[in-house]
Amino acid sequence: MTTHQFGRFFLPGPTDVHPDILAAMARPMIAHRGKDMTAVLNAIADPMKKVFRTEKTVFVGSCSATGFMEMAVRCGVRQRCLSLVSGAFGERFAAIAGATGREVVRLDVPLGKTVDPEVLRDAIKRSDVDAVTLVHSETSTGALAPLEELSKVVHEFDDVMLLVDAVTSMAGSPVETDKWNLDFVLTGSQKAMALPPGLALGAASDRMLARAKTIPEKGAYLDVVAYHEAFVEGQPTNTPAVSLFFALQRQLERITAEGGIEARWARHEAMLRATEKWVAGPGARHGVSYVPVAGHRSWTVSCLKLPEGKTSKPITDAFLKEGWTIGSGYGKLKDNTIRIGHMGDHTVAGLTDLLNLLDRILS
Ligand SMILES: *Cc1c(COP(=O)(O)O)cnc(C)c1O
Repeated sequence: MTTHQFGRFFLPGPTDVHPDILAAMARPMIAHRGKDMTAVLNAIADPMKKVFRTEKTVFVGSCSATGFMEMAVRCGVRQRCLSLVSGAFGERFAAIAGATGREVVRLDVPLGKTVDPEVLRDAIKRSDVDAVTLVHSETSTGALAPLEELSKVVHEFDDVMLLVDAVTSMAGSPVETDKWNLDFVLTGSQKAMALPPGLALGAASDRMLARAKTIPEKGAYLDVVAYHEAFVEGQPTNTPAVSLFFALQRQLERITAEGGIEARWARHEAMLRATEKWVAGPGARHGVSYVPVAGHRSWTVSCLKLPEGKTSKPITDAFLKEGWTIGSGYGKLKDNTIRIGHMGDHTVAGLTDLLNLLDRILS
């Protein structure tokens, strides 16, 4: 069995889980239809709204984030969607839409890039779609899409639903569910929320809920209306992953104690800046560069291009030997990039140690 000291596990999901959270999960079982479960759901309701920056009810499913990507498509796409693809997770959203029988129009951009608002406007004009799927922070390339601007463009059109995968942006960088008019936004527990894997969190606009009610083939288990109604009443849908809810309750208390979601964002921004500074200095001397351009970089995951002749595996292995974990590249970028998931409960101090180690490994 391999194990590690807390603070040294920098995969871009799952990320490191604080010992307090692991301890919270050791609580004995409770009846999921009893008052103890309602107490947990009531305790998490307001803090989750603060994380999502919404007045709407945030609901939680006992599935990984991909489950809520499927919920988005089943409940939000009537017939045809435009899927923005700039990496592996955008690809996944498009594939799910196809697998549920929807027509998919793709808007591809090169890896590491994000879609321009003007290009999006043109694409919607040309394609007669009723929804748009997009990934805010593309974990496979480390690129952060200009979500606020893209949302404005989508809302220029009548009855086009905006479905957002915010899996590695939510809780690690600004996601303004209400202010930016996001119709459906989802995340998973094991990314910037820094919980163990197994929960998906989401929120839906009134027009998303209204549309879902008109889609007869949306299915039952991932019905956004059922989730929304249950959580409004402080009830789970089916038997939830109770221990993970204990962890979520504890983590939301820790977020409040840190100074709220804005303090959490600021810590993540500082980790991005520390990584950028390293790449501009020691990194550049080793021939390392960022995949996305400045201004379009995720605050939670840095995808770094390796110099000619270097591959990711020997580097991730060298980290493991020292008791640290970082990610290799993902998908098409597997061998020639590495990914550092500086998210969740990581700190600039821990990240600085990691970057110093990377310096030594590359030397
Ligand atoms: C991790 C990730 C997912 C998938 O999450 P699962 O919990 O593995 O289903 C989806 N989108 C993005 C951007 C991710 O980073």
